[in-house]
Amino acid sequence: MRNFPIFDGHNDVLMSFAPPYSQPIGTFFQRNTDRHFDLPRAKDGHFGGGIFAVFIEDASSMALLQNLNTLSQGEKIEATALDFATAQQATMHMVANFHRIAKLSNGQMKVVRTANELDECLSTGVVAAVLHFEGAEPIGPDLDELEVYYQAGLRSLGVVWSRPTLFGEGVPFMVNHTPDTGPGLTDLGKALVRVCNQLGIVVDLSHLNEKGFWDVARISRVPLVATHSNAYALVPITRNLTNAQLDAIKESGGMVGVNLVTAFLNADASDRTDVAMETIVRHFDYLINRMGIEHVGFGSDFGPIDVPMPDVIQDITGLPKVIDALRQAGYGDSDLRRIAYENWARVLRKTWSM
Ligand SMILES: [Zn+2]
Repeated sequence: MRNFPIFDGHNDVLMSFAPPYSQPIGTFFQRNTDRHFDLPRAKDGHFGGGIFAVFIEDASSMALLQNLNTLSQGEKIEATALDFATAQQATMHMVANFHRIAKLSNGQMKVVRTANELDECLSTGVVAAVLHFEGAEPIGPDLDELEVYYQAGLRSLGVVWSRPTLFGEGVPFMVNHTPDTGPGLTDLGKALVRVCNQLGIVVDLSHLNEKGFWDVARISRVPLVATHSNAYALVPITRNLTNAQLDAIKESGGMVGVNLVTAFLNADASDRTDVAMETIVRHFDYLINRMGIEHVGFGSDFGPIDVPMPDVIQDITGLPKVIDALRQAGYGDSDLRRIAYENWARVLRKTWSM
C-alpha cells in the first residue's frame, strides 16, 4: 500500500524557537520530545507539508492555553490584545527563523509561495512550508506590513487569534456556547480581507467569532477556510464551527482542517488524552457527511508539548494512523488522497492564483 503525503493545515512548531521556549533552531532537525514536531518525525509521519503558524505567545495567551482543562468546567477563557511593537518584533524573529530552518534543511524543506511549488514538493518528497500568521497583530492600519510580509512568503492569515486586533475580535474559549460571542470585523478588517483576496493570501476563519465569519463569507471571493477547527455539533465549544458555518464553507468550495487537540475532540471538551481513534474518525465522518469529501483535511495544531494531544496520536508520527483508521472505516484510496493533501492543494491553488 502506497503512503500518501499528508498536508497539514496548521502547526505551531515555530513557537518552539521563540520565547518563552527559545530552543535553538537546529533542534528542528533532531528527534525532540519537547514538542510534537521535528523533521525526522515529520518524515515518519508522511508529512508532505503544512501551514506553519507565527503565533505570538504572551502571558495572557499562555495562561489561556494552560487552562484548556478548565474549559470543560464552563470557564470563559480570554486573552488580551497584543501591542503592535511587540507583535512586530516577535513576528520578524519567527519569520526569520522560518526561513533559516528552510535554508538549514539542505533541500529537505522548502518555503512554498505558489501552487506549482506546492505540487512539486508533494510529488518529490520535499516538505512544503507555507507561512501563516495566527492573528494580524503585526499588520498596521495602512496594511503596508501585509505587502512586505507577502513578499517574505506570507500566504495565509488569521484576522485574529482568540484576542482582539484592529481588524476584529477572536472567540474566547467557552464550552456550551456558539462562536457568536461578539461583534464582526471592523471596517479595517473588511479592507484586510479584500487586500488578502487581491494578493492571494488565505483568510483563516479559525479563531474568528461568528459575526466575523459571516463578514468574511460576504466579502471574500475565494474558498472559505478554517485551518484548525472541528464541528460544534460534536463538541460544543466556541472554537468549533456550527452547521450553518460548515454549509457556507462547503458552498464556497472551501475546507476545514480537523484539529487534533483533545479539547476539540472530547464531547465534554475535556483535555483527557485517552481519546479513542473512533472519536477522531467520527469527527472526519461528521464533517464529510455534512460537507462532502472535498472539503475536509488535517489541521493538527501540533506544536510545543503544552497543548494535549490524544495518546493514540501523540505527535506528528500519528498522522498516518488516522489515515489507516479512516481506511478501516471504509474510505478508499481516492478519498484518502483528497483528505491527505488534494483538498488543501486545490483550495490553496484557487486562493493563491486569484
Ligand atoms: Zn489556533
